[in-house]
Amino acid sequence: MSKVYLLGAGPGDPGLLTLRAREILAAADTVVYDYLASPGLLEHCRRDAELIYVGKKGGDHTMGQQDINALLVDKARSGRCVARLKGGDPYVFGRGAEEVEDLVAAGIDFEVVPGVTSAVAAPAYAGIPLTHRRYSSSVTFITGHEDPGKTESAHNWAALAQSASTLVFFMGVKNLDSITANLVQAGMEETTPAALVRWGTTCRQQTLTGTVADIAPAARAAGFKAPALLIVGQVVGLRDTLSWFEHKPLLGRGVVVTRAREQASSLLQLLQEHGACCYQFPTIAISALEDTGEVQEAVDRLGSYDWCIFTSVNGVRHFWSVLEAKGLDSRALGRAKVGAIGPATARALQDKGINPDVVPEKYVAESVISSLKEKGIAGNRVLIPRAEKAREILPRELIRAGAEVDVVPVYRTGLAEQNGEDILQAMNNGEIQYVTFTSSSTVENFFRLIPPEQLHPFVPDQVKLACIGPITARTLEGYGFSAHVQPAEYTVPALAQALVEDAG
Ligand code: SAH
Repeated sequence: MSKVYLLGAGPGDPGLLTLRAREILAAADTVVYDYLASPGLLEHCRRDAELIYVGKKGGDHTMGQQDINALLVDKARSGRCVARLKGGDPYVFGRGAEEVEDLVAAGIDFEVVPGVTSAVAAPAYAGIPLTHRRYSSSVTFITGHEDPGKTESAHNWAALAQSASTLVFFMGVKNLDSITANLVQAGMEETTPAALVRWGTTCRQQTLTGTVADIAPAARAAGFKAPALLIVGQVVGLRDTLSWFEHKPLLGRGVVVTRAREQASSLLQLLQEHGACCYQFPTIAISALEDTGEVQEAVDRLGSYDWCIFTSVNGVRHFWSVLEAKGLDSRALGRAKVGAIGPATARALQDKGINPDVVPEKYVAESVISSLKEKGIAGNRVLIPRAEKAREILPRELIRAGAEVDVVPVYRTGLAEQNGEDILQAMNNGEIQYVTFTSSSTVENFFRLIPPEQLHPFVPDQVKLACIGPITARTLEGYGFSAHVQPAEYTVPALAQALVEDAG
């Protein structure tokens, strides 16, 4: 059904999108979006949705407002369901009303989904409540975009300066001098607290505080740039007690995640929770084998194994897809005991209804071997479904301990198709502080994509390297680097925690 939905994208933190907006994004045929909308939001869109970027960055409009309005009308007329995603709330200084006026004129059906405006969210993340019984009982949203050369201002500066209202100026960075001068000239106390919040609610949030008299020179001295909000009023002082977001230990730190895309989410989530700006750079591509003949044969003789040992989440996932393709389920494992090399693998098994019999204390092959030896593995038949290429130590040592071992490849890892340019550019801009490695293959593949000599100039002064465990660290040493961060326990949560401690 052709219709245009004007959606508020929220202020930047992708978690601040409304449920209604997400629902519509997931259904839309066409999504027309702006510069300020967080790129992460596009992940809610249908895979086959048509995505149109219409930009809007300072004065450099990729597409003029008239053309955007015409585009919405055209797309709706061609029978499409259109989501028009706009930063913050679409009706707060977003020209959303102009877009809808043209839809109405063209007789096109529409709906509006309000968003969390930056005017409310950015101060909240900066520890500034817009109202407080003691300090302010009203709020005014003001555009700071007015041409300072204009003789007749649209604003009643005297009313703004003398009210006890909290003032929130949008788009005010360029005109900071004239805005603050107007307020003081119109009678505002020079000591009135003021704050600038840049990139509010994102990992790049920065806040600068001062007074209405000194915030403009302070912003100039600090090189403070748009997009930012200027907040003026006594409530700004509450930030000293109510600040929280800016206490996040990794806020503003750029962290490169080199894990395969399918495996990255737990690390990404932990790092983002601590405020990090994550750069996804999957070095490994995981794929199913074209020929699953060998796995199928192993499945056919599953009943003959005493043990089945899984060394990764992918091993579990791909083994089960072969089971399921044969119309089987977890019961096919029958009497075989099950081992998992680490807690994530154990969880993947639990999702399949299997509670592993062995999860070693340390999450490396060496530790699995000693746990299994304790269980008396001699004379047992062991199946290890795993990646096509993997460390030989596990099967070798189990054979030495007297087991009969079948290693069966169930998936393949390869070099991901990646261009290292963006990461190197971000390093050049000083935006990256850590690169994380969660296996030897992430190290090896990273250096196939970004040669060691290109990384050298940044390490260790600007960029530190973090490894999940000793084997990964040793592989890194082979390339002439050492691991600056390495947790005592070889897990993803411990790695994230080690970064937090290092940054702190
Ligand atoms: N409709 C949007 C505002 C669009 S005007 C909303 O409701 O938030 C664009 C201006 O909004 C920017 O110049 C800046 O002043 C402000 N802005 C938007 N997102 C911001 C953010 N994350 N942090 C600080 N200011 C932001």
